[in-house]
Amino acid sequence: MSHLDNDHRQIFRNLFYPERERHLDIEKWVAYCARAGATSVALDIKTQAYALYDSKLIQKDPAIGKRDFAAELAEAARRHGVKWCAYIPPYQHESLRDKGRAWQERLEDGSIAAEKGSGFMKTSFCWNSPYLVLFCSILKEIASKYRPDGFYLDGMRYHGAGDHLTCYCDYCRDRFRKEYGLSLPSKKNGAENYARSMVLFLKARKKWIADATRAVRNAVDSVDPEITLYLNNKYGGGDWANSNGPEAFAPIDYICREVIPSVVRGSLLYATYGFSAGDLFMWECAAQRAGKQGKPCQLYVSLQPVMRAEDIRLTVDLACAVGAQFTMQERRSDSGVMLKRIKVMEPYLKDIQPLADIAIHYAESSQLAYYRPHAGGNNNFLREPAGLYKTFLDLHRPAELVTDADLAAGDYRGAKLLVLPNSAVLPKVSQEKIIAHLDRGGSLIASMASGTMDEFGGKITNKLVYENSGLTLAGPVTTRKPFYMIEEKGRLIFEEKVSAHPAQYLVFKEGSVKEWLGEDISVGDHPEPVEEREIFQLHDRPSVYLPAEALQITADRNWKVLASIRYRDDASGKWKESPGIVSRRVGRGKMIYVAFQCGSLFMERSLWQDIGYAWSRHLIEHLIDTAIGPARVKVEAPACVKVAYWKQDDKTLIHLVNELSGFHPAVPLEERLPVAVKVQFPRADFKSVKLAIGDQAWLSAKTRGGWQVSCREFRDRALIICE
Ligand SMILES: [Zn+2]
Repeated sequence: MSHLDNDHRQIFRNLFYPERERHLDIEKWVAYCARAGATSVALDIKTQAYALYDSKLIQKDPAIGKRDFAAELAEAARRHGVKWCAYIPPYQHESLRDKGRAWQERLEDGSIAAEKGSGFMKTSFCWNSPYLVLFCSILKEIASKYRPDGFYLDGMRYHGAGDHLTCYCDYCRDRFRKEYGLSLPSKKNGAENYARSMVLFLKARKKWIADATRAVRNAVDSVDPEITLYLNNKYGGGDWANSNGPEAFAPIDYICREVIPSVVRGSLLYATYGFSAGDLFMWECAAQRAGKQGKPCQLYVSLQPVMRAEDIRLTVDLACAVGAQFTMQERRSDSGVMLKRIKVMEPYLKDIQPLADIAIHYAESSQLAYYRPHAGGNNNFLREPAGLYKTFLDLHRPAELVTDADLAAGDYRGAKLLVLPNSAVLPKVSQEKIIAHLDRGGSLIASMASGTMDEFGGKITNKLVYENSGLTLAGPVTTRKPFYMIEEKGRLIFEEKVSAHPAQYLVFKEGSVKEWLGEDISVGDHPEPVEEREIFQLHDRPSVYLPAEALQITADRNWKVLASIRYRDDASGKWKESPGIVSRRVGRGKMIYVAFQCGSLFMERSLWQDIGYAWSRHLIEHLIDTAIGPARVKVEAPACVKVAYWKQDDKTLIHLVNELSGFHPAVPLEERLPVAVKVQFPRADFKSVKLAIGDQAWLSAKTRGGWQVSCREFRDRALIICE
């Protein structure tokens, strides 16, 4: 337990600028927060430059004179019956710039990373330098003198992007050599050497941050082990250079994400990948949960007067749906209204655990293995789990992300189905846990090169997923680029048989096209000859165009081919076929293997145009149903309704949040449009079903098979409780 567990109504204020500090009446501010309904407050106790308290270790901010903000905040919080949290920016401290020159994060050329660029803050201290000891002493000083309920740590990580990463300081150079026997990655050492040392460097950075968060925890624990630690981070953003991960989060109580639908609207991710603001919110919070074995995260939002109230209501509704602690930096008059909206939900946010039918592997080791620094840039590897997550969200099926460490521990959050989206790096211990899961009757869907690589991306085996799976990787599917006609030596050459590019189709062997894609897409007895690339299928067999990366494989006789990949081979120019989707029984369980990137079908607009978003979704839905059958709780609602599933004691909680707006999705939300929703519950699973929260008119009915709750004009949020 920690002091700020189940603390869902928090008001936050960042200071830093002297004009904010000079006129701040802490007593009045805390009184205001308490009146608005906050249960805790957070304020800078040290800034990026100075201490705002009487410190023996660091210089006090000259702007606040003799005042001690920590003492004032602690006293005001006590008087008004709220808890308090000290906001701390961990790696910056401008007043230590001269003294801490040797502690600064460095780039490969030895320059000080924070001095690059136009930012006015010029410090960013390295966690391998003696700064860590000083930082721990600062936290200990604050903890023992003022007894805060929590520390909000605004990021502990290494910096940089692309090939310009920190840290190349002397402390890091020495430590890397000691721990890995290598010098830090440098292109001067040759491409192969660089790639190898880069993978280790990226792992080392995570490990070093984990050591630093452990040191922070120990320092705080020496005063009060129940002080809550928050850590702001960008885990789940798909950035291979991210130095935060589950190991660094272990000593932290809550990890924090900044994601607000109003800001997400119109963002690049949103525009490129077709995630709605709510989808992106759900995905980012799911990644945060994955970093803490399913524990809900904290959510920081900055609320300005220009924001539409409905946008904030949507944020609050989504935050409650993902079980997040809500902390708001606000400059508005309606905070009390928002906090009330959270308060009624609070009993259902207490000590909840995620409920999942499906666990998706968020495969960080595999991502690093696919990273090729000499080939430049980032990779798109993590788009695969993101695409699948979005599909399951659209299908209203409860899915959680699981990490490499979870796989090694066999922790799939109780899910029946584990999905391995190209989990190329699959250590033996994880393979054994997967086989045990199958033996017990669990299901698995694996795709692409799962289980075939070492951590550096080197191929270690042709056996897919695990040694005796009966599946062998034969190589990539490469197709011949088609042409209508080309000019050669001054004359035109025509090619008659033109196919799509890639010339690659998924041919269904089991089940009809309608079962796979939700509709029959054949053009029937159309009199006009149509090309395969126009109808997105082969003329003479039940099939669909497959514009995703794919592999050639062989499957032994234990496997049943559900669909094959038919493609025009680049080398021979001839049509070839290779198993595309195969299934078999393993023990009491079912295993499905997919020889193409299926999540990517949802992650690129060009791919939706080719195969169709709805077809891709149906294809995945059919796979899920084949693996574990249809959902027990059936939610009939459009994809604008986000559904979140939780366990609280022996109750099942189902949150529904509607985000439908009448405007272009990038326009700020002014009102939500009502949609019809129907949820059906099987009698065999639940004794009772009731609507706990819901502003619109809901109908409950007993049906032959169980219960049904429905709303014809569902506008914003609802919570259903099943026992
Ligand atoms: Zn360093």
